Amino acid sequence: MKPTKTTCPYCGVGCGVLAFPDGTIKGDPDHPANFGRLCSKGTHLGETTGPERRLLAPMVAGNEVSWDRATKLVAERFSDAIRDHGPDSVAFYVSGQLLTEDYYVANKLMKGFIGSANIDTNSRLCMASSVAGHKRAFGSDTVPGCYEDLEQADLVVLVGSNLAWCHPVLFQRLVAAKKKRPNMRVVNIDPRTTATSGLADMQLSIAPDGDTALFNALLVHLADTGRVNQDYVAAHVNGFDDAITAARTPGHSGLTPQEEEAFVRLWAATENVVTVYSQGVNQSDCGTDKVNAILNCHLATGRIGRAGMGPFSATGQPNAMGGREVGGLANMLANHLDLENPEHRTAVQTAWNAPTMAGKPGLKAVDLFQACAEGRIKALWIMSTNPAVSLPEADRVAEAISNVPFTVSSDAILKTDTNDLVDVLLPAAPWGEKSGTVTNSERCISRQRPFLSVQGQARPDWKIIADVAVQMGWGNAFSYTSVDEVFREYAELSKQGASFGRALDISGFANLTSVDYDTLSPTRWPVLATGRRGGRFFGNGGFHHPDGKARMVPVQAPKPVVAPAEFPFVLNTGRIRDQWHTMTRSARSPRLNQHLGEPFVELHPDDARALGLDHADLADITTSTGQATCRVRISVDARPGSIFMPMHWTLQHAKTGRVGPLVRATCDPVSGQPASKGSFAAVTPTRVKWYGFMASLDPIVMQSAYSAVKRTQTGWSAELADTHEQDDWPDLFRSLFEDQAGEVMSLIDDRNGSYRCAVIENGILRSAFFVSTRPVDVARNFVISKIGSESSGYRILAGRRPANERDPGAIVCSCMGVGINTISDAIAAGARDVEALGSCTGAGTNCGSCKPELTSLISEQSEILVAE
Ligand code: SF4
Repeated sequence: MKPTKTTCPYCGVGCGVLAFPDGTIKGDPDHPANFGRLCSKGTHLGETTGPERRLLAPMVAGNEVSWDRATKLVAERFSDAIRDHGPDSVAFYVSGQLLTEDYYVANKLMKGFIGSANIDTNSRLCMASSVAGHKRAFGSDTVPGCYEDLEQADLVVLVGSNLAWCHPVLFQRLVAAKKKRPNMRVVNIDPRTTATSGLADMQLSIAPDGDTALFNALLVHLADTGRVNQDYVAAHVNGFDDAITAARTPGHSGLTPQEEEAFVRLWAATENVVTVYSQGVNQSDCGTDKVNAILNCHLATGRIGRAGMGPFSATGQPNAMGGREVGGLANMLANHLDLENPEHRTAVQTAWNAPTMAGKPGLKAVDLFQACAEGRIKALWIMSTNPAVSLPEADRVAEAISNVPFTVSSDAILKTDTNDLVDVLLPAAPWGEKSGTVTNSERCISRQRPFLSVQGQARPDWKIIADVAVQMGWGNAFSYTSVDEVFREYAELSKQGASFGRALDISGFANLTSVDYDTLSPTRWPVLATGRRGGRFFGNGGFHHPDGKARMVPVQAPKPVVAPAEFPFVLNTGRIRDQWHTMTRSARSPRLNQHLGEPFVELHPDDARALGLDHADLADITTSTGQATCRVRISVDARPGSIFMPMHWTLQHAKTGRVGPLVRATCDPVSGQPASKGSFAAVTPTRVKWYGFMASLDPIVMQSAYSAVKRTQTGWSAELADTHEQDDWPDLFRSLFEDQAGEVMSLIDDRNGSYRCAVIENGILRSAFFVSTRPVDVARNFVISKIGSESSGYRILAGRRPANERDPGAIVCSCMGVGINTISDAIAAGARDVEALGSCTGAGTNCGSCKPELTSLISEQSEILVAE
């Protein structure tokens, strides 16, 4: 039972994982990112590695072909396009899910051999504004600090970052640090109140895009109260005066003067301050300015690059940082070198012995798909990502992909919204089967190691790309025989970056043997040939602009966001705790699907009341670019006038719950990152004629106008609804399966329009179906638990547990399967903290991801109990 040490494939925290041969997953106690912790997603990785829905062989036009035929076809069609239309007629759209070696080979092929920079990554959607802000301020995309800084700080400011759900283990480290040092202060700046808010001493619910105004106010306060570190600024910083002048321009943060005052005083008075920011800052049409507004305050005070202080960008994806390092963005060269710099280009071209080198930036993600729509791209290769869901104006992106004459997708999964559109599918080896490295948010390079046999004909991405490159005639440069050979070449190339003064130097890895690579421990870069490793940057200056100084960038706050009358809400989008991206991996886990298993729109009670919406109704969400229908969640945590929708649902799991089509393709002008949190929307009640719920042993076909399907521990379940009357329930029921045998037992009540039926085969319950004119009120977990069990049928039609069994309610703790009713009962019985709840219910005693929700449930319900 010796485990394999590998790295979690989900978020940018980059936790170390121990994968045991029997499928058990544990946190790696030796990994410096998590020291043994895992969140709910990491904990349930073992449920996601099976063969279901895998792409296991190359396919052309839906037919299985040999690898040889597939790679030749891809090489020929790309070569034809380049010959007939030039190198800029082809493009790669890649992913932060790729390993660094995959990214490196793709970037080398496109920039150095095809001769175009038309390679962009889905990281454009999550941290391009951080990259651009870093480059403007520091002269390079260098993250100055590390996770320990959050633990050592006296003040941690979280900006646009629901750390509790999006970077849960980093959040757990912060919680533990605050417990140890109760004087530590946490400020949470976010238009929404989130699971993260429970830890905050100060919750600042700013207006959408109010960040620049707030940090400009802070900069002015620092300047006016003598808090500027004059020595540091004089020695290491340019642009101070212009930045202060710009900051004095009035702005609108959406906070009260008292709130602003309290924040700027606290920040100014605390030397050890870390400002953590992520998508709430980056995903904006002024995202780069927001980043620089934050960096300006740290530069003005010299609070950077020393223990317990500095700005910190929390990256979304497992290898967003690795992609940045090897030049996976259309405007970057490998190893943090600049595409626009002729000396840098020559250095990389020489090192690669490449026939050419892209001479100008390529198309960034949104522009790339616009070029597809306009017919300028003749061949497109999408790697490990799902742009038909995740890009803004996703329906147009789907059309644009269909418009490209030749399209390829390399992926581990057979059916995705994107894969349904392409000509060639290439089976890529997924997590658990592939080998390589990833870099997390604190620059720590970790190994992903295989612990499962490769299924079907799947191959690692680097190998697929290299095989195509060889077929295109570049055998010498792409004849890699192992992944460690790729890594050594990348490490060797970093000497070039270092020779131009770049911080990214891993030349100490350039001579690793295969055994060294296999046993590589997590290591924070730089890794110099001289032996120096890790550390922080910029505490004593040493920035990467030609004069060695940082730049404070003058930024002005944008005008207050005013929604137009026809679309009166600001649409905020984001992640939920237990799903990941477009759910191709996480939705395979029945346990993860228990928590928020359906697409939803969250809105404030006042807005819901004005719209005539109740909890669990359905609502139509409309923007200028698309429409969706999803479940209503009413919460005081929502900001009035704003709505929130999760980013995860696709056509594979819900017919109408995608948020991508609703988001306008407006981008930050500097970074090209889409403003995924700033579209305007209208909300109207859906005129539903009937609602349904079904649980089944067999897959459920999404027939009704509203359908949301998920994997359960006993099979499948679905939430259904329609805006049309149904007069033949048995007929509808049969249409929900491709084939299901068994005896149907049903109950119809015409007076209230309800219908219930169950299918029993050989005494086993195969499915149960409940219909009502109102949102279906049955004990879902109970019904799901009975599927596949012996049953007489009629008992299940009650949809209730026996009178002596309490329904646990909606699941809050995915690991231990503890529901909200069980938790409420325990609170009513006297459990007043998370530990006490854990002792009596088990909730929160495994990975701990639900602890923020447990904390807020205790606080809400204790208040009610006191009031009573
Ligand atoms: Fe994986 Fe969770 Fe760690 Fe992120 S915090 S790397 S999702 S275990």
